[in-house]
Amino acid sequence: MKSYQVDNNGYYGIFGGAYIPEMLYPNTEELRENYLSIMEEPEFKREFQQLLQDYVGRPTPLYFAKNLSEEYKAKIYLKREDLCHTGAHKVNNTIGQILLAKRLGKKRIIAETGAGQHGVATATVCALMGIECVVYMGEIDIARQAPNVARMKMLGAEVKPALSGSRTLKDATNEAIRDWINNPVDTHYIIGSVVGPHPYPDMVARFQSVISEEIQSQLLEKEGSCNPDYVIACVGGGSNAAGAYYHYLDNPEVGIIAVEAAGKGIYTGESAATSALGKVGIIHGSKTLLMQTDDGQITEPYSISAGLDYPGVGPMHANLFQSGRGEFISITDKEAMDAGLRVSQLEGIIPAIETSHAFAIFKHREFNPDDILVINLSGRGDKDLQTYIDYFDL
Ligand SMILES: *Cc1c(COP(=O)(O)O)cnc(C)c1O
Repeated sequence: MKSYQVDNNGYYGIFGGAYIPEMLYPNTEELRENYLSIMEEPEFKREFQQLLQDYVGRPTPLYFAKNLSEEYKAKIYLKREDLCHTGAHKVNNTIGQILLAKRLGKKRIIAETGAGQHGVATATVCALMGIECVVYMGEIDIARQAPNVARMKMLGAEVKPALSGSRTLKDATNEAIRDWINNPVDTHYIIGSVVGPHPYPDMVARFQSVISEEIQSQLLEKEGSCNPDYVIACVGGGSNAAGAYYHYLDNPEVGIIAVEAAGKGIYTGESAATSALGKVGIIHGSKTLLMQTDDGQITEPYSISAGLDYPGVGPMHANLFQSGRGEFISITDKEAMDAGLRVSQLEGIIPAIETSHAFAIFKHREFNPDDILVINLSGRGDKDLQTYIDYFDL
């Protein structure tokens, strides 16, 4: 049977691989040779599992959302990643990667961040482990995301501004890669989503796969079956979605729905709807679908939600789209914001704006009343309060 997991060469269908400068080869090669065996060590598993439990607060609940279910006429469960320490799923991955870095003998961590969420999750685990942390961030993003910059500093990380190009995420990524090339022996680069050269997409998906592992046993207890009819998640780079889909990828009984940001409208030029607009290309060392001009320049994405404001998707998602295994839906800023407000008032849960996109699919998609849906509630809305306030004039 065809699998939607990564193959032995680091590809998902035609997507993935490691398209990197030669000088980075030893770094990714060290990871590729070691990540699976380290992750399988009983002592690694025990330590990861213990920290997920006692530090992150796992297992996160699978909550039957009665009011949402009545409103949208389906059985809707929410996987509560918003209850993780630091307020989102990202910490599942940073804990995993820092444990791995320690076992590889690394003394220093670097990361890049756009909105600052991944930077905070990285600074958090570096504080926990007492490891030096440098986070690259575009100068523009530093100005836009002051609260997260303050959090990182408070956690002891050094925030280094990227001063070149558009001074945003992609420039921060370039700086981080340059740093890694210059410090191959003692430094590990923590990438925050299922993007980047092999083995990052697979490694990050494995660390996040705890989400679907828990959904399986929680749903079995609540519904008598591990399998929902659909798993639904928002996709920026795709890590929360990859974690929620992981154990269902090769199970045709379970439908996969990916929700992207259409910004001001898919074809307005201000969008991040990669499935609709993307073409095959190479970004961050991986062959995937990305938004680009006719001559191959990456286009600047836009979404009201900083976490979905990415010009590509990870290779797993590109393959889910191209093969038809996943159903992709694009949601505008307005639809997402309205859905976020509705969920807040129906369930008493204020979602991150990223997640609000996933809640807006009911405008585009009907379900049967007895369909069981699991929506991955990737993060909480505290960080987005100002955006909600400005948008709704609260
Ligand atoms: C970062 C973020 C996302 C988008 O990243 P993925 O890698 O696609 O999961 C989604 N939701 C929240 C709450 C985030 O912080």
